[in-house]
Amino acid sequence: MTEPNGADNILYVVIGCDCDPDRPQYSGTRYDSRAPLKWRGVREGIRRAREIADGIKDDFGNPPKITWCVRSDLQMDEIYGDCAWPYGKFADLWESLAERGDEIAWHPHLWRWSDEHGCWYQEIEDEEWMRECLREGSTALSAHMGRPSLTSRMGWEFHNNITMQQIDELGIKVDFSAVPGRFTPGHADKWGSVFNCYVDWRNTPEGAYVPSPSDYRREAKTKEEALRVTELPMSIFRSGVLGIASRLRRATKAKSWDRLKQLFSANNGNTASLKAYITIHPYIFSRLVTAKINEAQQNGSALLVTAFHADEILDWRGHGGGLHRCQHFAKNVQRLRREVANARIGVKFVTAGETLQLVGHAEEHTQWRRHYLRRCLA
Ligand SMILES: [Zn+2]
Repeated sequence: MTEPNGADNILYVVIGCDCDPDRPQYSGTRYDSRAPLKWRGVREGIRRAREIADGIKDDFGNPPKITWCVRSDLQMDEIYGDCAWPYGKFADLWESLAERGDEIAWHPHLWRWSDEHGCWYQEIEDEEWMRECLREGSTALSAHMGRPSLTSRMGWEFHNNITMQQIDELGIKVDFSAVPGRFTPGHADKWGSVFNCYVDWRNTPEGAYVPSPSDYRREAKTKEEALRVTELPMSIFRSGVLGIASRLRRATKAKSWDRLKQLFSANNGNTASLKAYITIHPYIFSRLVTAKINEAQQNGSALLVTAFHADEILDWRGHGGGLHRCQHFAKNVQRLRREVANARIGVKFVTAGETLQLVGHAEEHTQWRRHYLRRCLA
């Protein structure tokens, strides 16, 4: 394929944004409070992110498209009386973003209130509750949007067999939650929750796949019936040094020896698979970009899938905020554009839902499509 800048190879880029309320590390409400939440990230961060992104263009003349993932789940219902309250409250914002070619997707969290502990925690065991949370969240969001959402991105990037089957039953076509190789055992945190951040994506492939109903982390085997949803994993890169640093950081949060052992056995050898949000330090993000450029040069095309949170785009210079920051976002967007051009490959920004159109058969889940996805997006 020959692209507009004359490059033979092309890098497709998906950027997702989790439009959560402000988190405690970004001056948001603690998890041991049922009070209404703060939404400065959505009110101010989203417009700022759009302005920054509009400063660059891909080889098709378009600024980065962003897939905005809007909360709709039982926590919102409990606090505001409507699962999809964040859609209704900021409807003008979502509609103006959708009009300009961004995608509005669904971001459900399984936050459940514990009377015993007096806090929100991540529910990962109660099947009935998890199914209800997703069914109600999806129905409410569709009602507000006037159409079903095509795409989902799960809170904490968590899935298990129940949740993957449920989003499939709800008609979601693309889910971009997987982080291949990642396992975190879940933990209490200093912001009041007794348990959250559990994920298990061990043995998940790096390319898009159609999951097995009996193991959400892998593609269905030849004789096994597959689900219909396409799982689009976040892009990862491998690094020995950064892998050790990341595991040490997580180890400090592990509460027991068993969890610690699980953590250190999750990645074999010295090279860990790491995801990189587009708001992380440019040193780390550039590792991901370099890996993806190499892949596009070798295979003709590659897909980079990254994300960020709305509260990270507020101005945190000198006062508070976490590892992920607005100024990193601006540098990473510009650096991505520059490095792709220097490598003489083309870049095209797409929404998560549009990755289905890359193969031209958005509604069909054929063997051919699976094969194509594996070949082009791996
Ligand atoms: Zn979230």
